[in-house]
Amino acid sequence: MDSIKKGNLIYQGKAKDVFATNDPDRVIMYFKDDATAFNGKKHAIIEGKGELNLRLCKRIFEFLEDKIPMAYEKTISKREMLQKKVQIIPLEVVVRNKIAGSLAKRFGKEEGSDLPFPMVEYFYKDDALNDPEIIKNQIAAFNIASKREMRQINDMALKINTLLKYYLYVRGIILVDFKVEFGRYYDDILLADDITPDGARLWDIKTEAILDKDCFRRNLGDLIEGYNIIADRLGA
Ligand code: 5GP
Repeated sequence: MDSIKKGNLIYQGKAKDVFATNDPDRVIMYFKDDATAFNGKKHAIIEGKGELNLRLCKRIFEFLEDKIPMAYEKTISKREMLQKKVQIIPLEVVVRNKIAGSLAKRFGKEEGSDLPFPMVEYFYKDDALNDPEIIKNQIAAFNIASKREMRQINDMALKINTLLKYYLYVRGIILVDFKVEFGRYYDDILLADDITPDGARLWDIKTEAILDKDCFRRNLGDLIEGYNIIADRLGA
Protein backbone atom coordinates (compact mmCIF):
# COMPACT_ATOMS: atom_id res chain seq x y z
CA MET A 1 0.00 0.00 0.00
CA ASP A 2 1.50 3.37 -1.06
CA SER A 3 0.15 5.88 1.39
CA ILE A 4 -0.47 4.75 4.92
CA LYS A 5 -2.97 6.81 6.88
CA LYS A 6 -3.07 6.85 10.67
CA GLY A 7 -6.36 5.68 12.19
CA ASN A 8 -7.70 5.27 15.69
CA LEU A 9 -5.68 4.64 18.82
CA ILE A 10 -6.02 0.91 19.48
CA TYR A 11 -3.60 0.41 22.37
CA GLN A 12 -2.19 2.85 24.89
CA GLY A 13 1.07 1.67 26.40
CA LYS A 14 3.34 3.23 29.00
CA ALA A 15 5.98 4.41 26.52
CA LYS A 16 4.24 3.77 23.20
CA ASP A 17 0.83 4.12 21.61
CA VAL A 18 -0.40 1.91 18.78
CA PHE A 19 -2.66 3.22 16.03
CA ALA A 20 -4.68 1.41 13.40
CA THR A 21 -4.08 2.37 9.77
CA ASN A 22 -6.07 2.25 6.55
CA ASP A 23 -4.35 -1.12 5.96
CA PRO A 24 -5.93 -3.78 8.24
CA ASP A 25 -2.58 -5.62 8.35
CA ARG A 26 -0.47 -2.66 9.50
CA VAL A 27 -0.23 -0.54 12.65
CA ILE A 28 1.70 2.58 13.55
CA MET A 29 3.68 2.52 16.79
CA TYR A 30 4.22 5.99 18.29
CA PHE A 31 7.17 6.38 20.67
CA LYS A 32 6.37 8.68 23.61
CA ASP A 33 8.61 10.61 26.01
CA ASP A 34 7.09 8.89 29.03
CA ALA A 35 9.38 6.93 31.32
CA THR A 36 7.81 4.58 33.85
CA ALA A 37 9.09 2.08 36.38
CA PHE A 38 7.70 -0.27 39.02
CA ASN A 39 4.57 -1.02 37.01
CA GLY A 40 3.81 2.67 36.43
CA LYS A 41 4.27 3.76 40.06
CA LYS A 42 7.18 5.98 39.02
CA HIS A 43 6.55 8.23 36.03
CA ALA A 44 8.28 11.12 34.28
CA ILE A 45 8.30 12.80 30.91
CA ILE A 46 11.83 12.85 29.57
CA GLU A 47 12.08 15.13 26.58
CA GLY A 48 13.65 13.46 23.58
CA LYS A 49 13.35 9.88 24.86
CA GLY A 50 10.74 8.88 22.29
CA GLU A 51 12.83 10.03 19.35
CA LEU A 52 16.01 8.51 20.76
CA ASN A 53 14.29 5.19 21.41
CA LEU A 54 12.91 5.09 17.90
CA ARG A 55 16.40 5.70 16.44
CA LEU A 56 17.88 2.96 18.62
CA CYS A 57 15.08 0.52 17.88
CA LYS A 58 15.32 1.19 14.13
CA ARG A 59 19.08 0.49 14.22
CA ILE A 60 18.62 -2.77 16.12
CA PHE A 61 15.67 -3.92 14.00
CA GLU A 62 17.52 -3.13 10.76
CA PHE A 63 20.39 -5.28 12.00
CA LEU A 64 17.99 -8.13 12.84
CA GLU A 65 15.52 -7.89 9.99
CA ASP A 66 17.14 -10.33 7.53
CA LYS A 67 17.87 -12.80 10.35
CA ILE A 68 14.66 -12.94 12.42
CA PRO A 69 10.98 -12.88 11.30
CA MET A 70 9.79 -9.47 12.42
CA ALA A 71 6.70 -7.29 12.52
CA TYR A 72 8.91 -4.25 11.89
CA GLU A 73 8.67 -2.71 8.43
CA LYS A 74 10.07 0.83 8.54
CA THR A 75 10.05 4.13 10.36
CA ILE A 76 7.76 6.79 8.92
CA SER A 77 8.61 9.79 11.12
CA LYS A 78 10.90 10.65 14.03
CA ARG A 79 8.49 8.97 16.44
CA GLU A 80 6.50 6.55 14.31
CA MET A 81 7.22 3.04 13.16
CA LEU A 82 5.16 0.94 10.77
CA GLN A 83 4.71 -2.68 11.81
CA LYS A 84 2.64 -5.63 10.70
CA LYS A 85 -0.44 -5.93 12.87
CA VAL A 86 0.14 -9.00 14.99
CA GLN A 87 -1.90 -10.62 17.72
CA ILE A 88 0.42 -10.10 20.68
CA ILE A 89 1.10 -13.19 22.79
CA PRO A 90 0.82 -11.82 26.35
CA LEU A 91 4.29 -12.88 27.49
CA GLU A 92 7.36 -10.88 28.35
CA VAL A 93 10.21 -13.06 27.20
CA VAL A 94 13.37 -12.15 29.10
CA VAL A 95 16.81 -13.39 28.08
CA ARG A 96 19.67 -12.95 30.55
CA ASN A 97 23.43 -13.21 30.17
CA LYS A 98 24.34 -11.86 33.60
CA ILE A 99 22.65 -11.84 36.99
CA ALA A 100 20.83 -8.52 37.47
CA GLY A 101 17.51 -6.94 38.32
CA SER A 102 14.68 -9.16 39.46
CA LEU A 103 16.76 -12.33 39.05
CA ALA A 104 19.26 -11.03 41.62
CA LYS A 105 16.44 -9.93 43.90
CA ARG A 106 14.32 -13.10 43.70
CA PHE A 107 17.24 -15.43 44.41
CA GLY A 108 19.31 -13.22 46.73
CA LYS A 109 22.26 -13.03 44.31
CA GLU A 110 24.81 -10.30 43.65
CA GLU A 111 24.34 -8.41 40.42
CA GLY A 112 26.99 -8.62 37.74
CA SER A 113 28.26 -12.20 37.50
CA ASP A 114 28.00 -14.05 34.21
CA LEU A 115 25.45 -16.83 33.87
CA PRO A 116 26.95 -20.12 32.60
CA PHE A 117 24.46 -20.06 29.69
CA PRO A 118 21.81 -17.62 28.45
CA MET A 119 18.69 -17.96 30.58
CA VAL A 120 15.18 -17.49 29.18
CA GLU A 121 12.36 -16.55 31.55
CA TYR A 122 8.69 -15.89 30.83
CA PHE A 123 6.44 -13.40 32.55
CA TYR A 124 2.69 -13.19 32.04
CA LYS A 125 1.81 -9.68 30.80
CA ASP A 126 -0.80 -8.44 33.23
CA ASP A 127 -0.29 -5.14 35.05
CA ALA A 128 -3.02 -5.95 37.59
CA LEU A 129 -1.06 -9.08 38.60
CA ASN A 130 2.35 -7.35 38.38
CA ASP A 131 3.51 -9.52 35.45
CA PRO A 132 4.10 -12.78 37.39
CA GLU A 133 6.67 -15.29 36.21
CA ILE A 134 5.03 -18.17 34.34
CA ILE A 135 6.38 -21.60 33.39
CA LYS A 136 5.86 -23.42 30.09
CA ASN A 137 3.30 -25.87 31.48
CA GLN A 138 1.18 -22.98 32.73
CA ILE A 139 1.49 -21.22 29.37
CA ALA A 140 0.19 -24.36 27.63
CA ALA A 141 -2.49 -25.15 30.24
CA PHE A 142 -3.89 -21.62 30.13
CA ASN A 143 -3.83 -21.64 26.30
CA ILE A 144 -1.56 -18.62 26.14
CA ALA A 145 0.63 -20.26 23.50
CA SER A 146 1.02 -23.78 22.17
CA LYS A 147 4.05 -25.94 22.91
CA ARG A 148 5.07 -25.58 19.26
CA GLU A 149 4.79 -21.79 19.46
CA MET A 150 6.83 -21.80 22.65
CA ARG A 151 9.61 -23.78 20.97
CA GLN A 152 9.70 -21.16 18.20
CA ILE A 153 9.63 -18.30 20.70
CA ASN A 154 12.39 -19.82 22.80
CA ASP A 155 14.60 -20.42 19.73
CA MET A 156 13.98 -16.93 18.37
CA ALA A 157 14.69 -15.28 21.72
CA LEU A 158 18.00 -17.15 22.04
CA LYS A 159 18.96 -16.34 18.46
CA ILE A 160 18.20 -12.63 19.02
CA ASN A 161 20.40 -12.81 22.12
CA THR A 162 23.33 -14.39 20.25
CA LEU A 163 23.10 -11.83 17.45
CA LEU A 164 22.61 -8.77 19.64
CA LYS A 165 25.19 -9.79 22.24
CA TYR A 166 27.91 -9.82 19.60
CA TYR A 167 26.61 -6.76 17.75
CA LEU A 168 26.72 -4.74 20.98
CA TYR A 169 29.95 -6.27 22.31
CA VAL A 170 32.00 -5.06 19.33
CA ARG A 171 30.51 -1.61 19.97
CA GLY A 172 31.67 -1.59 23.58
CA ILE A 173 28.37 -2.56 25.20
CA ILE A 174 27.50 -5.58 27.36
CA LEU A 175 24.04 -7.02 26.81
CA VAL A 176 23.15 -7.98 30.38
CA ASP A 177 19.50 -8.89 29.68
CA PHE A 178 16.52 -7.81 27.61
CA LYS A 179 12.79 -8.29 27.17
CA VAL A 180 11.09 -9.14 23.89
CA GLU A 181 7.52 -9.81 22.85
CA PHE A 182 6.16 -11.92 20.03
CA GLY A 183 2.95 -11.93 18.03
CA ARG A 184 0.99 -14.12 15.65
CA TYR A 185 0.70 -12.98 12.05
CA TYR A 186 -1.27 -15.46 9.96
CA ASP A 187 0.78 -18.70 10.34
CA ASP A 188 3.95 -17.03 11.58
CA ILE A 189 5.35 -15.95 14.91
CA LEU A 190 7.05 -12.58 14.57
CA LEU A 191 9.24 -10.50 16.85
CA ALA A 192 6.96 -7.59 17.78
CA ASP A 193 6.91 -4.52 20.04
CA ASP A 194 10.34 -2.87 20.33
CA ILE A 195 13.88 -3.38 21.54
CA THR A 196 15.24 -0.28 23.31
CA PRO A 197 17.21 0.53 26.47
CA ASP A 198 13.82 0.86 28.20
CA GLY A 199 13.60 -2.93 28.10
CA ALA A 200 17.24 -4.02 28.00
CA ARG A 201 20.13 -3.71 30.43
CA LEU A 202 23.15 -2.32 28.63
CA TRP A 203 26.44 -1.70 30.41
CA ASP A 204 29.66 -0.08 29.22
CA ILE A 205 32.18 -2.81 28.55
CA LYS A 206 35.11 -1.09 30.32
CA THR A 207 33.47 0.66 33.27
CA GLU A 208 30.24 -1.36 33.56
CA ALA A 209 28.45 2.02 33.73
CA ILE A 210 24.70 1.60 33.35
CA LEU A 211 23.49 3.09 30.05
CA ASP A 212 19.84 1.92 30.16
CA LYS A 213 16.58 2.67 31.96
CA ASP A 214 17.97 1.46 35.30
CA CYS A 215 19.41 5.05 35.46
CA PHE A 216 15.81 6.21 35.84
CA ARG A 217 14.56 3.26 37.92
CA ARG A 218 17.40 3.65 40.43
CA ASN A 219 17.89 7.46 40.27
CA LEU A 220 21.43 7.02 38.98
CA GLY A 221 21.54 10.06 36.73
CA ASP A 222 20.49 11.30 33.33
CA LEU A 223 18.83 8.60 31.27
CA ILE A 224 19.31 10.58 28.03
CA GLU A 225 23.09 10.63 28.55
CA GLY A 226 23.27 6.83 28.54
CA TYR A 227 20.89 6.49 25.60
CA ASN A 228 22.99 9.02 23.64
CA ILE A 229 26.16 7.01 24.32
CA ILE A 230 24.43 3.89 22.98
CA ALA A 231 23.17 5.83 19.94
CA ASP A 232 26.71 7.08 19.19
CA ARG A 233 28.21 3.61 19.43
CA LEU A 234 25.48 2.10 17.24
CA GLY A 235 25.62 4.97 14.74
CA ALA A 236 21.89 5.41 15.30
P1 5GP B 1 13.87 -7.78 35.44
O1 5GP B 1 13.05 -9.04 35.47
O2 5GP B 1 15.27 -8.01 35.92
O3 5GP B 1 13.20 -6.63 36.13
O4 5GP B 1 13.98 -7.34 33.91
C1 5GP B 1 14.68 -8.12 32.99
C2 5GP B 1 14.82 -7.35 31.67
O5 5GP B 1 13.52 -7.20 31.08
C3 5GP B 1 15.36 -5.92 31.85
O6 5GP B 1 16.20 -5.63 30.76
C4 5GP B 1 14.12 -5.04 31.83
O7 5GP B 1 14.41 -3.79 31.28
C5 5GP B 1 13.17 -5.84 30.96
N1 5GP B 1 11.79 -5.71 31.40
C6 5GP B 1 11.16 -6.41 32.38
N2 5GP B 1 9.89 -5.99 32.52
C7 5GP B 1 9.69 -5.03 31.61
C8 5GP B 1 8.57 -4.21 31.26
O8 5GP B 1 7.47 -4.30 31.80
N3 5GP B 1 8.78 -3.30 30.26
C9 5GP B 1 9.99 -3.17 29.63
N4 5GP B 1 10.14 -2.25 28.66
N5 5GP B 1 11.04 -3.94 29.94
C10 5GP B 1 10.92 -4.85 30.91
